[in-house]
Formats: sequence, structure tokens, C-alpha cells
Amino acid sequence: MKVTPWEVEGVVDYSKLIEEFGMEKFEDLLSEIEEPMRLMRRGVIFGHRDYWRIVEAMKEGKEFAVMSGFMPSGLPHFGHKMTMDEIVWHNQKGGKAFVAIADMEAHGVRGLSWKKCFEIGMEYVKAIIALGLNENSVIYFQSANEFVKNLAFELAAEVNWGELRAIYGFESETPLTKIYVPAIQAADILFPQLKEFGGPKPTVVPVGADQDPHIRLTRDLAARASIFSFEEIEGGLRIRSRKGNEFLKELESLNFEKKFYEGHVDVFGEKKKIEEEVRKIEIEIGGFAFIPPSSTYHKFITGLTGGKMSSSKPESYISLLDEPEEAKKKVMNALTGGRATAEEQRRFGGEPEKCAVFELYNYHLIEEDEELEEIRESCKSGKLLCGKCKKYAASLVVEFLKDIQEKMKEAEDRLDDYEVIFPK
Ligand code: SF4
Repeated sequence: MKVTPWEVEGVVDYSKLIEEFGMEKFEDLLSEIEEPMRLMRRGVIFGHRDYWRIVEAMKEGKEFAVMSGFMPSGLPHFGHKMTMDEIVWHNQKGGKAFVAIADMEAHGVRGLSWKKCFEIGMEYVKAIIALGLNENSVIYFQSANEFVKNLAFELAAEVNWGELRAIYGFESETPLTKIYVPAIQAADILFPQLKEFGGPKPTVVPVGADQDPHIRLTRDLAARASIFSFEEIEGGLRIRSRKGNEFLKELESLNFEKKFYEGHVDVFGEKKKIEEEVRKIEIEIGGFAFIPPSSTYHKFITGLTGGKMSSSKPESYISLLDEPEEAKKKVMNALTGGRATAEEQRRFGGEPEKCAVFELYNYHLIEEDEELEEIRESCKSGKLLCGKCKKYAASLVVEFLKDIQEKMKEAEDRLDDYEVIFPK
């Protein structure tokens, strides 16, 4: 098994991934979430980092954000839809959504023209609105977002070449644009917490498990970019400055009992409140104060033809812009977990866990858990044969595509209702 932002190889063992990457299990939090979305209920979202911050914010009706990005190097497909559904769910639960169109990455790393980046990027914008994103959101193209570009520059000061090489395996021939991308992505993730967008807040980034190195780096950078660091002491917090001891003087205005020492300040009182007050001071004096971003990790989506979904193989995925009839054919030709003959299938039953069609039902097409279980059971018992099952999946895909394509057209007329940062 190999899982990196550029390569996913072999059969992925998700429990091993949790252990290796040091993630937390999502199922441990599930009972705390009110009406969890289907990807959560079904274990498709299997891991997280600090998602408790979001659970807490949702429970207490506090401000939080959800952010993720899409590289417009190919049209939006069902793989992207999974992330879009996660953004929309959090947005509908009260989170402010930040949606990045990663056109700088598509241009700088994949070599797409800016015009193409914009055209394809707009399909992502329309798609996520069509999927239900509400107006409590900011949708932007990286190249047009001065906040992100400036923040990326600041964050780049906190990371060195050796570190990037160790994380991403960059070589001496790697172009500078590619080396700069992690700083842009970190800025995408932290930008919802800038003071111009309401200041520090819990932010969740729903991603595929292969994107974890970006999350880990961003969480480190979030801490390094802050002026003050905290250490728990009895009855309070010890605060140090990362950027020079003169900043410690700014803490004189704190309304808590405090003692100043050479190089640190001990502050006594409720830790959470002290931290909140210090973060406010940090922003006032022009620093960055970020709460480490949370993340959720979903499983990889299998290609319809088996193996990896690949943008160079259109038959391996369903694009949201596919002609419904064309998509129907893809489903009918998909690899299933069926047996070699109908006779064998009746006798031994099918294998839904190995079936790309069942994955479509599970991830996208069937909302009700009972209906999904019925299909799983009929398949396993041999009552349901693949021909009939694929026809049903195809009919759901056709219905979905007709509906989403209609809504994408309508989204074009509703763009003015959204805060969208477009390239000029
Ligand atoms: Fe897949 Fe359906 Fe065939 Fe079962 S019956 S293997 S779920 S296509």
C-alpha cells in the first residue's frame, strides 16, 4: 500500500492508514453528531483530525467554517461530488463555506491556460451551487484572491526547502511553482480565519486520505505563523513569543493575573478564555492567530472499470456534465462483484464490497440506509442479479444527471447571490 498526494497504489487498508498517519477514527465521534450525513453513517468518512472542534461548534451554534478546493484540470465528476457533498452538508449545518478553485495549481503545475482554468473552474462553481451550497459562502479562484496570495507568501517564510523535500519528495529539477503550491494550499486552508473574514474559527477541511500531508503541514504552519505559543501550567498558561520577546509586552493589557519573566509570561485563569484573549491581542497587533484546522478523510472512490479512477479514462468515471445516455452506458459496462454466470450468482451470491456499482449506490445514489441494506442483502443472497441491478443504478444516474444539469444552468443566473471572487 502506498498513499501520497501523487500516488495511491495497492489495496488500501484504512485502519492501517489511521495508525500510520496518526489520524483519529471517525466512528468514535459519530454518536455526537446530530443527523450525520450518509458518508459519515456508512464509514466512507473514516478518519479525522480534531473534528471535535466542529462537533462542539455545531452543538453550541458557534461560528465555524468548512473549506476545500478543486483543481480545474478536468471536469467535475462523482469523485469531486463526494467532497462537494461534504462541504454542502457542513454549510447547511451552519458553517460558512470557502470553496477554492485551484487555478494557480492547474496553470502552474499542469500547464493549463488561464482561459481554460476559468472555463473549467466555472463548472465547479455551478456544480457546488447546484448541489445545494447556500449564500453563507465564499467561492474564489486562487489567482484572483489577493488575501490567499499574500498569506501564502507569509506562510512560505515559515517552511524551508529541506522540510518540503522530506514531505513531498521534491528534487532539484522540481519547478519553483510546484514547490510553492503547498504554501498556496496552506493559505487556502487558513484564509477563512483572517480577520477580514471574521477571525479565528474552527475550520474543517474534507479531503481524501492522500491529502493528509498538506493538512499536517498546514497545521504546523498555523502554529508557526502565530506570534504566541502556549504551554499548560498549573492554574493557567505559560505564553512565549515566537517572533521576539518585545511582543510579550503587549500582554500587559490581559485581564488575568499574570507574572512576567525573561522570555515568557505566566497567566492564571480559565485556559480557554486566556487563549481567546491572547488571540485577540495577536490580531490587533497585526499577527496571525489560527486555530489548527480540523480535517475529515474519506475513502478513495474506485473507477467504474475497476482500479483507480483516472481523468485520462472517461469510462472510469461519471462526470456531472456527461450526457445521461452516455453515463448510462458507463454504468452498464461497469465492473461488478457478480459471479461468472447467473447460475453461480444465484448459488453463491454476489460480492457488493468488490462492486463499483454498489459503491455508486453507497457513496452517491441512495440516501436511505434501509434501501441500501436491502440491495446489499439481495445481492449477497443471490436474489438480485447484476443486469437488473445495473439497470436500476443507471436509471438513478440518469435521473440525477438530468436534475443536476438543470440546476447548474439555473446556478448561472444565481451567481450574483454569492460572494464569488473571479479573475478579472
Ligand atoms: Fe454489484 Fe448489484 Fe451485481 Fe451485487 S447485484 S454484484 S451490487 S451489480
